[in-house]
Parts: sequence; structure tokens; C-alpha cells
Amino acid sequence: MDRKEKKLNNLLLVILPVGLFAVGWALVDVVGVSVGLPLVPLAIATVFLSSLLKIQLPRSNVHLTISDALIIISLIVYGGSVAVLLAAAEAAFTSFVIRRDGETIKFKTAVLNVSNAAVVTFVVAWAVRLFFGSANLTDTAKSTSGLITMLLTIAVTLFFASIICVTPFLAVKTGRPFLMVLTEYCPDALVMYLVGALIAGLTLTSIYQANVYLMASAVAFFAMVYWVYRRNVDDVRRSNAQAERAERKRAEQAEKHVGELTHYISELEKSGEALRRSRERFRHAAYHDALTGLPNRNQLIDAIRTQIEKKRRNQKHQFAVLFLDLDRFKTINDSLGHSTGDGLIRAVSERLAGVLTAGQMLGRFSGDEFTILAGINSEDEALELADRISAAIAEPFLLNERQVFTSVSMGIAFGSPNYTEADEMLRDADIAMYYAKESLEAYAVFDQNMHAEAVSLLQLETDLRTAIERDELEIYYQPIVDLGATKLVGFEALVRWVHPKFGVIPPSNFIPVCEATGLIVPLTIEILRVACGQMAEWRGRLGDEGPTFMSVNLSGKHFGHAELVQQIKDVLAETGIEPRFLKLEITESAVMENAERAIGMLKQIRETGVQLCIDDFGTGHSSLSYLHRFPVDTLKVDRSFVATMEDGSENGEIVRTVIALAKILKLNVVAEGIESIHQFHQLRILGCEYGQGFLFSRPLPVGEIEKMLSDKFNWENILPMPDYGSIAQNKEFSRLRVQ
Ligand code: C2E
Ligand code: CA
Ligand code: CA
Repeated sequence: MDRKEKKLNNLLLVILPVGLFAVGWALVDVVGVSVGLPLVPLAIATVFLSSLLKIQLPRSNVHLTISDALIIISLIVYGGSVAVLLAAAEAAFTSFVIRRDGETIKFKTAVLNVSNAAVVTFVVAWAVRLFFGSANLTDTAKSTSGLITMLLTIAVTLFFASIICVTPFLAVKTGRPFLMVLTEYCPDALVMYLVGALIAGLTLTSIYQANVYLMASAVAFFAMVYWVYRRNVDDVRRSNAQAERAERKRAEQAEKHVGELTHYISELEKSGEALRRSRERFRHAAYHDALTGLPNRNQLIDAIRTQIEKKRRNQKHQFAVLFLDLDRFKTINDSLGHSTGDGLIRAVSERLAGVLTAGQMLGRFSGDEFTILAGINSEDEALELADRISAAIAEPFLLNERQVFTSVSMGIAFGSPNYTEADEMLRDADIAMYYAKESLEAYAVFDQNMHAEAVSLLQLETDLRTAIERDELEIYYQPIVDLGATKLVGFEALVRWVHPKFGVIPPSNFIPVCEATGLIVPLTIEILRVACGQMAEWRGRLGDEGPTFMSVNLSGKHFGHAELVQQIKDVLAETGIEPRFLKLEITESAVMENAERAIGMLKQIRETGVQLCIDDFGTGHSSLSYLHRFPVDTLKVDRSFVATMEDGSENGEIVRTVIALAKILKLNVVAEGIESIHQFHQLRILGCEYGQGFLFSRPLPVGEIEKMLSDKFNWENILPMPDYGSIAQNKEFSRLRVQ
């Protein structure tokens, strides 16, 4: 139970007994009262009508009813006890009506109201009895002055009694301070009772004087006042209702707006979120590699740049960049398919990530290139990391239920205050990686000499491109001799770079660059075209008396290209050379790099009708099991065996074995690098059919060869030919060599 409830109970405890007493007294007292018939309509009007005909005083809680006037009339006409009973009944009925109209009114409050009404009327009844005696009041009331004093007495008593009884109740009910309620209630109550007294007075006067007109005009007047007032109140109520409706509409609209706004905000938030996500995706894509999810070049460059700046601020700060490149990745990709290649890249990236420790960042650069940025305490730490990586990658990878082996070449560059750009450091690590690959080491640490070499290499590449454009590349031809008949039978085309400044540059100085840059493909096609064109021309001119084959070297790098066969066919068609007059030389090591694939390729080339020769034989470690499967015509014994061929030496044995082997396999044998009569004789004794070497002729430009061919006797008896010896001693390679 709360405090308010408690106070109400206390009030009830005080007022209820007094109320009961008042009603009790009235019931006892009323027995002796002589009542007439007019009491019936009066009682009905008091109890039932007055509560219905009520008007509320504006801006107050006070309801003006005719009940007060009627009770005053009943008091004056029938005495206090009737008035008390009517007042109590009226209060009870009003409470009932209020409740019926849906307003919450507690039973307790209703009892309080009834008690209040009874008590107040009781007090007034006794006050009147005190001032005007207990005899019939009607007589006093019949005189105007008597009536006025009586009415005033009644009104004032009513006022005070009700203030005493009602104010505490109102204060408790509204929870407001007693004094505040008092000041608000007093004027209302005063007006209420004065009006009640006035109506009662007018009514009684008109009854006593039996003045119908006065009564009618009084009723009309009050009816009009009531009507005007009700209209007013109705207007006010209507406009209030209208205002309320407008207010409600506004509220609804505001609510709708709030709803729309909330929706709009949530939409905005959603699109903001989508924007943020797509921005994140973009940022992720800009800084990550799609295949592996690793940081990409951009991110690594940013990170390296930060490290370089750190190093410039603090010399003691150490870090290293490791540039990694998978070996033979292209072969794996070409032979096992791109999806396996992708799988390998992913597997390698995972394995690399597993090797790294805190403070080391792994990124994918492109293709099979990875980069690691590692914070280190000493340079040894970077080397140890390289060792760990190389061991991890050496383990086989299982891709599509297939074991794939690979290895990695690494270049290491250490952070230095000399670096200003991340690109410089990456370039150096890349150069070191290139060195590691070339020297077949797992890794190489960058030093400045490497840079100088790389720059000259780069220069060479640029020069070479212009050389091709400017036709500075020339083909020299070296005769190949039938050792038995000492007769020139064919040529090997050997490329030369006739540099306007450096003179004739040997192929060993630029072929590797061509191979590394891919220039080898267009270069070889061009050489093929020139050599085949030349051969076709000689055959056309000399017929069967001319040379019987033209050997052209094929690079191992080019040999891996699928388009090679078509390129050969194109050259054959273009130059009109009979395929059998062209012999392609491919080194043993190039063939053995991927023997199975090579067999397929050799077969395809063979189908074009072109002859095939395995060059530098003896250096490429081909096994016998493969040798008989290679669809070739010729084996060319490597120069190194011929050069050191002496009686009984191991090299002599090898040459002997190779020749014997070739005989069994029904292959031709060419010995290259024959420089002495002694070697020539030995080879003849061993049954070697063909040979080439400085003893017969150096590779010569086409003009010199034309001279040679024009002297039929000489080239049919090519040895000993001191004249050609002098030609062979030409200035080839005697000029400056490329650095
Ligand atoms: P190779 O195919 O083994 O060519 C034979 C090399 O031995 C030639 O060197 C030739 O000048 C040299 N030679 C010939 N007889 C003798 C001799 O009696 N003594 C000595 N010491 N050397 C002799 P060259 O022309 O410098 O070519 C070197 C290598 O460059 C070639 O070795 C070949 O692998 C490559 N090469 C040359 N021209 C071409 C070409 O057009 N295409 C391709 N892919 N490679 C070429
Ligand atoms: Ca060759
Ligand atoms: Ca050779």
C-alpha cells in the first residue's frame, strides 16, 4: 500500500464515522418530519437530475449542479434531516453516474464523497438550527431579508464546511500541497455555493409569492444561462477536440516522419556499410594478390619504403629483402596445366608462410615470384631464413595426387641507408636472385659488382634489340667435312654480332641474354630464314654438287615452345629449301632437361622431313635407354673430348665409345673442334664420318664461303689447305670483346 492510499484510509477513518453519524441522525430525525407530495419531484430532481445537469467551471475541477440549490431548498422547506439524506443520496448517485461513464472512481472515494456530502449538509443544518431555531424555517424565508440572511448563512457554512472536509481529500487525491489546493478550491467553492444559494433563493421567492411570471422568467433565465453556457462549453469542447485531433494528426504525422527518417537513416547506414565494405574490398584487392591472398607488390613496396625510412633515421635498424623465384615453374605450368601451376603457387605460399616468424612479411610479386621482407638482428639471420625456405620448398608437393618437386632461387638484399626507394632494393634482390639461379645456388647475397654486371647486361639487351633492327647480326658458316673423303659436305650456321664499335662479338656473349629475354625466338627464326635461304640458293645453283646439309643451332629455351614446329614449317615454305637439307642441332643437355617431352618434340620436327642432331654429345649425361628413343640422325661429339683426345686417355675412350654407339644406333657422328692433323687422323681411324674444326676452316662470312665453293677442287680435297688455313686465321673475334 502506498502513502496516498494510507492517507485516504486515514481520512476515511475520520470522516466515515462522522458521515454515518450524520446519516444516522438524519434517519432518526426524518421520522418526525411532515413531508408533502412535492418532496417526491424535489428528491428525484436532486438525486437524479442534478448530476446530469451539471456544468464545469472553466479551468477548474468544480462542477456547478442544481443539486446545491435543491438541497438548500429542501433544507429550508423540509428541514436538515431531509437535506442530509438527499445530499448523501445525490453524492452516491453522482459517484455511480461517474463510474458508469467510464471514469475510474474507487469505492473508497465514493464512500468518502457520500460521507463528505452528509457531513457538510449536517453541519449546515445545525448551523441554520443554531441561528434560526429548530421551528419551521419557511416563515423566516418568506421575508426577503430573512431569506437573504438565511441563504448567506447557508452558503458561508457550506463553504467553510466543504473546505474543511473536501480540501484534504483533494490534496491527498491529487498529491499536491494542501495550501495550493486550498487556494485553488476556495474561489470555486465560494462561487458554487453562492450560485446555489442564489438559485435556491430565486426559486423559493417565486414559489412563496406564487409569482408564475417570476418563476417562469427565472427558469427561462437559468435555462438560457445554462443553454448558453452548455453551448459555450460544447464549443470549447469541440474546438478542444478539434485541436486535439489536429494535435493527434500532427503527432501521427511526426511519428510517420520519424518512421520515414528512421528508415532513411537505416537505408543510409546500410548503403554506408555497403560502401565501406566495397571500399575495403577495393583496398584489399589493391594490396593483395588474388590467387594466394598474400600482400601484393603495392603492399610490399609500402612496407619496404617504411623500413628504408626507419633505416635512414636509425642506422642500427636492420632488415632484409629476399626475392624468391621458383625454378622450372614454367615447365611445370606448361606440362601439368595451369590449374596445377596455380595449386603449386598456393602450396608454396602456404609453406613459405609456415617458415616465417614474427616480423617477417611474405608477399607474391607476380607469377612464381615471392618476396619476403624480414626484420633481422644480424645478416646471418637472413641466411638462416633462406636455408629454412630452401629446405621447406625441397620437400615434394602433392598436387592432384601427383608429387611435384621444385626448388627456389633466392636473392637477398640487406637494408642500407643508401637506398632511397623500395624499387632499388627490390631490383638488387632480384639481381642477386638471378645470380643464384645462374650459379645453381639456393641463394645469393647482393653486392655492388652484381649491379654493374646487371647494368651491362641490360645495356646489352637494349643494344641487341637495335642490332637486330639494324641487321648487325650476321651468319657465319663453318664447313663440315667428310673425314674419309676430306670433302666439304655441309655447313654449320653460327651467328655473329658485327658490332660497329666492338667488332665481331661471339655468340657466347649474347645468346644467353637472348635466351633470358626471349629474344632468342625471333633471332632463331631469322637465322633459320637466312641459312635456309642461303642453302636453297646453293642447292639451286650447284645442284647435287653443292653442300648436302645446313646445320642450324636451336636453343634449349626455344625448344620448349609449342609453336616451334609451325615456325620451322613456315621457314621451309618461305625459303623453298628441301627439308632434308636442313639439320637442326639441339644440345644434349637441353634434350635431357625433359627427355619425354623432348622425344615428342623431336618426333614432330622429324615429321617435317628435317634432320636432327644432338649437339655437344657427351656433356648432357643422356642414358642409353633414352638415346635409342631419340628420333635423331646425328650425334655431334663435344669439342672438349676431341680437344684432349690422346692415345689411351679417358677422353679418347669416350670418343671411341660414342662412335661405336652411333654405329650401333645407325647414327652419323660429327666430331667438332678438330684443330690438329693428329686429331683428324685419330678420328679417321676410329671411323668417325664427319668433322669440323679450325683445321679445316673457321666459321666464315658468306663471301669467304662463296670463294671456297667456287674452287671445286679445293673443297673436294679440303685438307691440307694452307690457303684456307690463312683464311681461317681471319680476324674473327680478334677485335674487342664485349665487357
Ligand atoms: P656449338 O653449337 O657447339 O658451335 C660450335 C662452336 O665451336 C662454335 O663457336 C665454333 O666457332 C667453335 N669451333 C668450331 N671449330 C672449332 C675448333 O676447332 N676449335 C675451337 N676452339 N672452337 C671451334 P661459336 O660460334 O662461338 O658458338 C658457340 C656456341 O654458341 C655454339 O656452340 C652454339 O651453342 C651457340 N651458337 C652459335 N650460333 C648460334 C645460333 O645461331 N643459334 C644458337 N641457338 N646458338 C648458337
Ligand atoms: Ca652446334
Ligand atoms: Ca657443339
